Amino acid sequence: MLYLIVFILGLIVGSFLNVCIYRIPRGQSIVFPPSSCPSCGRRLKPLHMVPVLSFLLLGGKCAYCKEKISAVYPIVELGTAALYTFLLYRFSIGMLFFKYSLLFSILIVVCFIDMENQIIPDEIIIVGLLAGIIFSSVDKQNLLRDYIPGAMIGSGIILLIVILSRGGMGGGDIKLMAVIGIFLGWRKALLTLFISFILGGIFAFFLLITRKKGMKDTVPYGPFLGAAVIVTVFYYPYIVPYYFK
Ligand SMILES: [Zn+2]
Repeated sequence: MLYLIVFILGLIVGSFLNVCIYRIPRGQSIVFPPSSCPSCGRRLKPLHMVPVLSFLLLGGKCAYCKEKISAVYPIVELGTAALYTFLLYRFSIGMLFFKYSLLFSILIVVCFIDMENQIIPDEIIIVGLLAGIIFSSVDKQNLLRDYIPGAMIGSGIILLIVILSRGGMGGGDIKLMAVIGIFLGWRKALLTLFISFILGGIFAFFLLITRKKGMKDTVPYGPFLGAAVIVTVFYYPYIVPYYFK
């Protein structure tokens, strides 16, 4: 029963994250006005806004103008619900569940905005830092020993890479890594960086051999950090004995 509640909650939060993904880069308010079709501008009825189901029932098209609706919407909703459910399974209801749910939600918004617009908006970074500080303050004795150093070491390493490589990664990635570090602490932040390098490397290699992009093209790095955080949160205890040897 609890799983079902968390899954449905994930779908609802996911549909709010979609609003954030669409509106924040356009400088629009995320609470007002109510949702409307991006193509014809007509206001959506509650029946049109049921996560995933509306998309399926309407055949992925707007109910009014029949313009195609991006598949990103149901993907974000299902993805959020799946991640929340897996978090519940792994950590059961408690501080860690809420902390990681919030971190994942922030990362979903950041990654999709980064993929679409190649930017990581400062508003989300500020919300992320504040939320991270609040959650980490609960674990008082580790705040200065673990979480603050996590933010500084994590973003410091990316800053160094930005300076040395002059490209590839950008200022947004430095700030995003500060958010990840304050949530996860320095050990998990380092593991996240390490995994993101591997994922990014595999992806770059794949693009080069398929000649989709050349050496000079840039690819948004946020999604690799986001994916690496998910791997770290779920598998840290399994990876770390090997990782620190
Ligand atoms: Zn429409």
